[in-house]
Amino acid sequence: MSTDRLTRRGFLGTGAVAGAGLLWGSSLGGCSLVQAKDGHEGLHAGSESQAKNVIFLVADGMNTGTWSLADYYLQHQNGSKNLGNRRTEWVHLYAERLVNRALMETCSANSLVTDSAAAGSAWACGQRVNNGSLNYSPEGQPLTPLHDLVQKSGRATGLVTTTRMSHATPASFATSVPQRGMEDAIAAQYLDKGVEVLLGGGSRHFAAESRADGEDLFGKFRKAGYEVIGKRDELLSVTEVPDRLLGTFWGTHLPYTIDRNHREEVARQVPTLAEMMRAALKVLDSKPNGFLLQVEGGRVDHAGHGNDPGAIVHDQLAFDECIAVALEYTRDHPDTLVVVTTDHGCGGCQLNGMGASYLDTDKTFFNGIDALSSSFEYLRNQFGVLSRGEFKDLTEASIQLVLTEDQLDVLDGLKSTNYGVSTQLRKWYDPIQRTGVNFTSTNHTGEFVELSAWGPGSGNFNSFVTNTDVNAVVRRVLGLS
Ligand SMILES: [Zn+2]
Repeated sequence: MSTDRLTRRGFLGTGAVAGAGLLWGSSLGGCSLVQAKDGHEGLHAGSESQAKNVIFLVADGMNTGTWSLADYYLQHQNGSKNLGNRRTEWVHLYAERLVNRALMETCSANSLVTDSAAAGSAWACGQRVNNGSLNYSPEGQPLTPLHDLVQKSGRATGLVTTTRMSHATPASFATSVPQRGMEDAIAAQYLDKGVEVLLGGGSRHFAAESRADGEDLFGKFRKAGYEVIGKRDELLSVTEVPDRLLGTFWGTHLPYTIDRNHREEVARQVPTLAEMMRAALKVLDSKPNGFLLQVEGGRVDHAGHGNDPGAIVHDQLAFDECIAVALEYTRDHPDTLVVVTTDHGCGGCQLNGMGASYLDTDKTFFNGIDALSSSFEYLRNQFGVLSRGEFKDLTEASIQLVLTEDQLDVLDGLKSTNYGVSTQLRKWYDPIQRTGVNFTSTNHTGEFVELSAWGPGSGNFNSFVTNTDVNAVVRRVLGLS
């Protein structure tokens, strides 16, 4: 069971943080969620509807198909398909009936298909806004995000993501801007608002040399009392729990997990999402009045846009580890509501039956994903950096695509376009033929999505909710006004 994995690694991962082991236990009993739902020995003993903390986990752009792929693949890695063996944490929550479960409608104010800015805003301010805007009404009025109310209640806020720190989903909980692309402004708002923990990618929106206004935001964060870090080692070797923490571990979005898994230099630089979440919890756990922590597996969405089966499976699994971290935290902190969901589907990712009577499906999928060791994005970034021969070898080794000289000429012609090379590689790779995984588009999708919750107040979620309902539940559970 996954909790054994946690126990072996220890809650704090490989890092040594003084005193951190004392914050909560390293083992997770099978009845942890019973305790979480019924124990209530925290601040709000006796009240089922109040919580001290909220942990909000978002697998951005996750189709139910993606969710299934990750579970099948984890079972395959574990060498068994038997229920009760190593399944994803999210499936475990359902299989053991540990959570309240809902379907959520994800529309925005102006479309059945939302973007992440509008979706996050619906959660954060309780109103639907137009695609592309962050807590700004369709009439152009700024709206109040959850962070502001949480702060007013004396609690702290943390945002953890695999995207740029200033990307739509983390930004939605704490900032208000008319256009999600205003990432320099979003980074500055985090400072102005005093968001206590920020861990993710996107250093380019904090560094003087890459910000349009030339401001040294890192310096300003330091002056404001933040510990500012930029490497995995620094995250894991923090010796004292800082009051405030800003960590950006890559210039833009963090690399995909599949690329991290296969490249030591990336793994040295970049922490996993679960490692960042643990670090965030260490800081936030020290806050006397509680916290709201959002953790986003943001690149699940990007892999959907990129129709990249290897990237999507491994990033979904990396997100799933965070559910285990939340389970363990709530074992000793039953006054914590945990919500696990996604903001919308992306790409329409699905496993498709392969061969006669679909009997080639399993081997096509498992062998296909096993053989992948690069995302299409990683290959795109290497094109023009490596020699033609080296690139040909890398592509063959990592996605089993043998490029002809003519195809390399085609890629040469695409070099100047941002996504051209990866899009062309994906077309030649042909995901359904090699993995059985296919996509309906490279866009977001409009289906109802999964939402799971446990802890105090989780019973406030009906079986069918809208994205704006989430705001009402969180506000009610935290007693925000
Ligand atoms: Zn997206």
